[in-house]
Amino acid sequence: MSLQLHDTRSGEKRVFKPIDPERVTMYVCGPTVYNYAHIGNARPAVVFDVLSRLLRHHYTLVYARNITDVDDKINQACIDTGRDSEDITGEFTEAYLEDMRALGVAPPDISPRATDHIAEMCTMIEGLIADGHAYEAEGHVLFSIESFDAYGELSGRDLREMIAGARVEVAPYKRHAADFVLWKPSTPELPGWNSPWGRGRPGWHLECSAMIEKHLGKTIDIHGGGQDLVFPHHENERAQSMCAHGGAPFVNYWLHNGFLNMNASKMSKSLGNVMLVRELLEQADGEAIRLALLSAHYRQPLDWTDATLPDATRKLDRLYAALKKADEAAASAALVDIDSTQADQLAELKQQHLRAFMAALEDDINTPKALAELFAMARAINRSESPAEQLALARALREAGALTGLLGKAPEAWFATVVSHDDAADDIEAAIAQRTAAKQAKDFATADRIRDELAAAGVQISDGPDGTTWRRVAGGS
Ligand code: AMP
Ligand code: ZN
Repeated sequence: MSLQLHDTRSGEKRVFKPIDPERVTMYVCGPTVYNYAHIGNARPAVVFDVLSRLLRHHYTLVYARNITDVDDKINQACIDTGRDSEDITGEFTEAYLEDMRALGVAPPDISPRATDHIAEMCTMIEGLIADGHAYEAEGHVLFSIESFDAYGELSGRDLREMIAGARVEVAPYKRHAADFVLWKPSTPELPGWNSPWGRGRPGWHLECSAMIEKHLGKTIDIHGGGQDLVFPHHENERAQSMCAHGGAPFVNYWLHNGFLNMNASKMSKSLGNVMLVRELLEQADGEAIRLALLSAHYRQPLDWTDATLPDATRKLDRLYAALKKADEAAASAALVDIDSTQADQLAELKQQHLRAFMAALEDDINTPKALAELFAMARAINRSESPAEQLALARALREAGALTGLLGKAPEAWFATVVSHDDAADDIEAAIAQRTAAKQAKDFATADRIRDELAAAGVQISDGPDGTTWRRVAGGS
């Protein structure tokens, strides 16, 4: 295989060479669990789930995604609600895992929680202090960025610019404006652990460094997360880990996903423009949300609009319709009469499609191109008149689907959740038939009225090459 991945540090796409093909290591920064995941938070989970499937296809992978369960924002949530930290983080860890399951995200091999690794973090801090990379000041322990020559290398930031930029509001106990916290004091009401520097809690960056060292090792193959984490989070993780390990490389490939935007702004809790995964799951199947998240290349921004989910659902309708057609053809035809030449041709046809699909995924996880290959397979099924050929193509489509975490349902199950479990289905079908007749008679006013009435009743219809499909959407009266 010739997997190429874009590495943030070198700024280029490089052929992926694992340190050990028997144990490829990947770490992705997971959620801070104090409220529900929004669809932007789901983007890295889904993107790196696809990469994990691709890597597992070729290698033995150990994939870790952490849970940040100690953090200022969690503490603020405790203060705001009067609830215990474990109570809040327990609830939202469960909610996160449930939401990701609904999006078809397979659980990583390891899901370490920060609070289970306080001892490892303290050990790392002690080593950093002993080697002159960190210092204690007023109950805090700070990392000294001047002790690490390569600081700024990952994010391409110049230390001098950072000094100039950070001159205001620098805590008095810092030796250098850009030094960052490894440990800080905690108040009696808030979570805290005894340490050589008093009762306190770890800095966020340190959590990941300690969990990576413990579960994956000193040098790992791949580290992922959203683009907002490049600086300071990943820059600081890298500084801590390399200094704790005598300068050993920390990460060979840094991967960062672009933002999911709404109305041209990054979706984020602080901007208040969030759509929660669980709200969207009321409007559409998790598989449609997943396809929507994969419809843009992971490094590009992804604009989320009202049309995103209906569009993704229609695309899945097309893919499942092709699978349904192939399944039906296979069930009704006698497939036994294929000679070996035909069998070879069909195997080659299947491989041709799979090769094109794999080439797309292996080109820095080009999911839009990979999805286009899925549609090419569906079109080939629709055009084919040979049940054996349709079956071979359907197998290719299902195998490719599995690598993207799509098309795992039986077509009947997909269409059943969309249409049949609905008592009013007959009335809706009848209204659609009337609308189709009105359109054919060029009575567009009637056709539009029927569509509007259905929309008001929470039924959204879509016209496609195979006729009109419909589904219930949230928001109808
Ligand atoms: P958080 O829970 O805020 O630490 O975020 C969890 C993950 O979601 C991190 O990898 C973030 O980089 C990522 N993330 C947060 N907001 C967005 C967004 N709007 N688009 C893409 N990724 C995001
Ligand atoms: Zn991290």
